[in-house]
Amino acid sequence: MGWIEFGHDDATAARIAVLAEQIAHHSHLYYNLATPEISDAEFDALWDELKSLDSEHPQLRRVGAPIPPGSVKVEHRFPMRSLGKATDDEEVSHFVAETTAHGRRFVAQPKLDGSALSLEYRRGRLVRAATRGSGERGEDVTLNALRIPNIPDRLSWEGDCHVRGEVVMHLEVFREKYADIAPNPRNLAAGSLRQKNIDAGKGDASDLAFHAYDVLFVPDDEKHPDSPEALQFENDSEAIAWLRDVGITPAEEVIIEGSNDEDTTQGLLDETKRWTAGRENAPWEIDGVVFKLDNLAKRELLGQTAHHPRWALAWKFPPEEATTVLLDIDWQTGRTGAVTPVARVAPVVVSGVTVENTTLHNVGEVERLGVSIGDKVRVVRRGDVIPKIIETMGPAQASDLEGRFHADGEQFAGALPTSAPPQIPTDCPECGTELSLDGAFLRCSNLSCSARLARSILYWCRALEMDGIGEKLVDQLCDAGLIKTIPDLYRLSTEQVLGLERMAEKSANNVMTQLDATREMSLDTFLSALGLPGIGPELATAFAGEICTMDALICLSDDDLGRLIAIEGVGETVAYSLMDGIANRSEMMGDFNQLLNITEVAKTEDPSGPLVGFSFCITGTLTRPRKEIALQTKAAGGKVVSAVSGKLDYLIAGENAGSKLEKATRLGVKVLNEIEWEAMLQP
Ligand SMILES: [Zn+2]
Repeated sequence: MGWIEFGHDDATAARIAVLAEQIAHHSHLYYNLATPEISDAEFDALWDELKSLDSEHPQLRRVGAPIPPGSVKVEHRFPMRSLGKATDDEEVSHFVAETTAHGRRFVAQPKLDGSALSLEYRRGRLVRAATRGSGERGEDVTLNALRIPNIPDRLSWEGDCHVRGEVVMHLEVFREKYADIAPNPRNLAAGSLRQKNIDAGKGDASDLAFHAYDVLFVPDDEKHPDSPEALQFENDSEAIAWLRDVGITPAEEVIIEGSNDEDTTQGLLDETKRWTAGRENAPWEIDGVVFKLDNLAKRELLGQTAHHPRWALAWKFPPEEATTVLLDIDWQTGRTGAVTPVARVAPVVVSGVTVENTTLHNVGEVERLGVSIGDKVRVVRRGDVIPKIIETMGPAQASDLEGRFHADGEQFAGALPTSAPPQIPTDCPECGTELSLDGAFLRCSNLSCSARLARSILYWCRALEMDGIGEKLVDQLCDAGLIKTIPDLYRLSTEQVLGLERMAEKSANNVMTQLDATREMSLDTFLSALGLPGIGPELATAFAGEICTMDALICLSDDDLGRLIAIEGVGETVAYSLMDGIANRSEMMGDFNQLLNITEVAKTEDPSGPLVGFSFCITGTLTRPRKEIALQTKAAGGKVVSAVSGKLDYLIAGENAGSKLEKATRLGVKVLNEIEWEAMLQP
C-alpha cells in the first residue's frame, strides 16, 4: 500500500519518504528485535524531522514496516488454546469437582462470539496484532487492529506483554450498517480484521470493539532490555483490573466463590442462567460463559490436557433448533437498495423466543437452500441472535401447524400454503424499478425509491439523535407524501405533522423542536447522518476534515480524487462512493444548503488551531465519547496520546478517573475538566 503525498514539493516528498523508511527500519529493530543500530536521540531526531514535515504521516503511528493485513503469519509466543466446552449442568459440576482441590474461586466472563485477537505490546507499544489462526500461528492484522477505537497503541505500562481477547461488532451498528452485506456480526468482525484495505467492502474495523480475557507477560530473559520486569499477580481478577488500568477493555468479569462443591456449582449454573436471560439484551453476540480458576499458581498446578487447559471451561448456550413451516417470503428494500428476503414462518419457539419472521439473507441463499413456500424448514439459532432457516425438509403436512401460538398467546390460525417455489422479484417491491444482481444480492438502483427513502430518513434521524421521529412516523410522513427526500423534513409545518393520524399536539411540537435543533450542524455530522453507501461515521469525519465546507463538498470532482485518497484508510472505491453519492444527490444537496446551516470543519492538519503544540491524554467518563473528544482535539491541532508521562501537557479527566489522574497529579501534569478543555478550543 503506497502513501501518496500531496502539497509537498518533490524534494520534501522525497525526504519524507526517506525518513518514513528509516523510522520503519529503526523502530522495527528497536521494538521488535531489540537490536537498535542508532541511539534514542538519533531516532528522536528522525521522528521530529518527519513530524515537522508531515505531522499526520501514518508512519508516526506505527511500529515497523506496514504489513498488509493477512499476508504475514505470526507464531504466537503463547499459544491461543481453545477451552474445554460444556453445554449441560452435569459438565459444569464435573468441572468443579475436578478443580476443587485447587480452590473454589472462579472468574466468569461472557463468551463473546467474534474473532479472537492477540495484541503484542513491547515497551508498552502495540507492535503486532494477530488472529488466532491455528492457535500456534495466526495472521498479522496490526493495521486493522489499530483502527479499532478501544485498542490503545500504547499502554500506560511500558513493558512487554500479550493481551488476548475477542473482537466483536456492536449489534446495533451491525443492524444499521451491515445487515445487508454480511450474515452475522462474527463473520463481519473476522472479515474486517483480515481485509487488506478498507475498500474491500467487508466492514470498517473502526466499527469493532476489543474485549480482553487475559494477559501474559514476556519472561524477563526474553523481554526488551529497557522494559520493566514481568508483573506477577496472585489472581486472574487482579490481572483483569490491571488491564483496565493500563487502558485495555476487559470482558466484564464476575467472581464466583463457593464454600463447597455444591454451592460453587450452583453459583456457576446461576451465572449461566443470568446470561441465558441477559443474552437478548447484550450489545454483542454472546455464545456462552467462560469460567476460569482465579488463582494463577493453582492453574499452573492443574496444567492442561492435550487439547485444553484443565482450569477453564467454556459453557455454551445449547444450540437451539426447531422446525416450522415456511408460509411466504417477503422481499424488502433496504437503505442501500439491497432487496432482501424475509421468511414468514408459522410461530415457533427458539431459545425461548417466538419467531415468526426469519432472515434468508439474500437471493443467493434462497437459491442455495432450494426452499419452497409450504416447506417444513429447520430454524436454528447458534451464537447468532437472529435465528435463521438452515434447511428444508420437503413439503409440510397440515399437522406441522398444530399447537402453534403467537408470542401474545393467541392460537395460530393460518392455513398450510400451497407448495410453490419462491418468486424472485425482477422489479423493486417498493418502486417498481428493475432490479440488478450484485453478487448474491438483488439491488434497486433508484435513489428516490420510497423504501430507501424511509430507511434513509430513519438513519438520518437516528444519527442526529432525533428520537421523537421513529419508524412509524417516518412511514406515515412518506405515505402521506409529505416527504420525498431528507431535506423535505425541514419543510414540514406543525400543522402538517398534527394532521397525521393519532398525532398529539405535544408529540408534534416535540418533532418540530427536534428538527429545529438540527438545522445547524458541522460538515462531519452532516456527512455521517447522510449515510452514503460505504461511508460510515469514521470515514465521514475523515472526509470532512479534508473537504471542510459544504460548498467544497458539492463541488467535488475527479480533480479531488488525489487529495481524497491521500487520507489514511481511503482508497479509490471509497473516494468514488463519496463523489458518486454526492453527484447522484445534487438536487438534494442544493436543498440541504438552502435549508440547513452546515458549518465548516477545521482542516485536519490545520496548523493554526488553538491546541497546536500541546499534547492531551483523555481519561474517565465524560459527557461524550472519548473518541469524539480526541477527534475534536486533533481537529484543533492538538496531539492526543494514550499514556500519561512527564512530557504530557494536559490530562482531560472525567468522572471516575483512575490511575492516569493519580499519575498526572504526581507528575505535576495540568488536569482539565471537560468545560476547561472546551474553553481552550475557543480561538
Ligand atoms: Zn426501489
